[in-house]
Amino acid sequence: MALKKLVAGNWKMHGLSSDLGEVRAIAAAAQDYPNVDVVLCVPAILIERAARAVPGFAIGGQDVHSEEKGAHTGCTSALMLLDAGASLTIVGHSERREAQRESDDEVKAKVEAALSVGLGVILCVGESIEVRERGDAVAAVVAQLEGSLPDTLAGEAELAIAYEPIWAIGTGKIPTTGEIAEMHAAIRGKLKERYGSDGDAMRILYGGSVKPSNAGEIFSIADVDGALVGGASLKAADFIPIVAAAAAVEGADTIA
Ligand code: PEP
Repeated sequence: MALKKLVAGNWKMHGLSSDLGEVRAIAAAAQDYPNVDVVLCVPAILIERAARAVPGFAIGGQDVHSEEKGAHTGCTSALMLLDAGASLTIVGHSERREAQRESDDEVKAKVEAALSVGLGVILCVGESIEVRERGDAVAAVVAQLEGSLPDTLAGEAELAIAYEPIWAIGTGKIPTTGEIAEMHAAIRGKLKERYGSDGDAMRILYGGSVKPSNAGEIFSIADVDGALVGGASLKAADFIPIVAAAAAVEGADTIA
């Protein structure tokens, strides 16, 4: 099933008031591609200003706490993200799984907390270079996904998956089209096993060194329903050509 593509920008720890002009430029240019969903995931502290700057354009967060409220200094709840104007959040990014030692159980609890209040989720999974070179990438990613998926799909909020090989993030290296196709097919299989026909409707994004120069080929791979873009999402001049590439492959043949 061909799903509408989702191109999500992950600004990581970048973005000040002075960068809101770039948010405006991206939101304005994205209107030229109504057949692609576009979202910018900005630092939590910038969400409200970004959402006010571009009404109607989707703004997301980059993490969420698993509890509704309480004694969790420095953390942000799902309701706080919604209240600030976010419509979704990234969960389980490898930078957090590594630096904050987030386990699959913790990631799963965060996904459930977000979905339960109507906040969409982009759930990230991906293997290290050691696992890839050992030939265990598919098994490892499917196991990570199994451990991170919510027990049930509560409510209407979207759950999308982002396959992000850790070794491809910010490195300029990307897997072959065959490796991406194999992984996305395995992820689709797991989603269908867990959620039946709902698993067919979930978007599976590829992330890791997506650029204007490689986006078209990546988007034409079967079961690649969009991209999670880090570095190339910071400037409209880089990000919008990726959105345009997604728009261009809508309805085109896919690489199996
Ligand atoms: C990311 O941070 O999710 C990412 C994919 O980064 P980059 O596009 O810079 O590799």
